[in-house]
Amino acid sequence: MSPTPLSVHLPFNREILGATFTPAKRGGKPAVTEGHWIILQDQNLIVQREGDTPTLPCGACPPGLDAMTPPLWLGTWQDTPCWVATLPADAKLPAGLHAETVVPMRGTSLPDELLSLGGMSLQAVWWESTSGHCPRCGERTERIEGEWGKRCPRCRYEHYPHLHPATIVLVRDRDRVLLTRKAGWAPNRYALVAGFVDNGESLEGCVAREIKEEVGVDVKDITYVGSQNWPFPSQVMIGFVATYAGGDLVIDREELEDARWFPCNALPGLPSRHSISRFIIDNYAQP
Ligand SMILES: [Zn+2]
Repeated sequence: MSPTPLSVHLPFNREILGATFTPAKRGGKPAVTEGHWIILQDQNLIVQREGDTPTLPCGACPPGLDAMTPPLWLGTWQDTPCWVATLPADAKLPAGLHAETVVPMRGTSLPDELLSLGGMSLQAVWWESTSGHCPRCGERTERIEGEWGKRCPRCRYEHYPHLHPATIVLVRDRDRVLLTRKAGWAPNRYALVAGFVDNGESLEGCVAREIKEEVGVDVKDITYVGSQNWPFPSQVMIGFVATYAGGDLVIDREELEDARWFPCNALPGLPSRHSISRFIIDNYAQP
């Protein structure tokens, strides 16, 4: 098994768009508010359908959105500016448009490129909704020119979009792997151990601690294998594999409904192909 990280070609990572996308922070905002429309309603993306393919509305502002707050300029995709607009949860959709969930666990049918654009847009909207006031003194903040960051005009505090690092790890022991499930997941669906990085903690330290806390075992050979941006609302998932080093399974019932060893050739139900959890299992849970 190669210890070298694989190229993580997953939705929500901006890299999936390649050179077709340029983020807004480079270059000036277009003078005219026309282009691709990334319309969000809760965690849904509002799309039109060309045959079976969901696409973004393109051109002038779709009727019905004109009265909303000014759209955010996200960047340029396929040489066309992208504008992010939000609809209230109870708003009627403009004619000819449909709501599709962006959330993999709810069974998204959106293509990967739209998931990545939708994910960045969810994060942009989340950032706008949480950064309007200085977290230190409460004053209304101002956008830093050419950046997503905000500055406080009173105390000069500056902050930039917050990403929360979380590790996610597959524990292997010869031809078996350790998988866990939380209450409320689809029956027989298992995935990996995951948790947020604490103050003062290395990523490897977080992996070892989370495994010890949630399932009671020790691990060694903690190896980075790739990462995924996860915009629900603002995580970056940092993926690892590790080798079982000893200890009995002791399940933290506050966190988990079950955890068990599965033979690599008899795995249970797994998360959808959109998540790094599945990516790691597909690539590293091999006999
Ligand atoms: Zn302040």
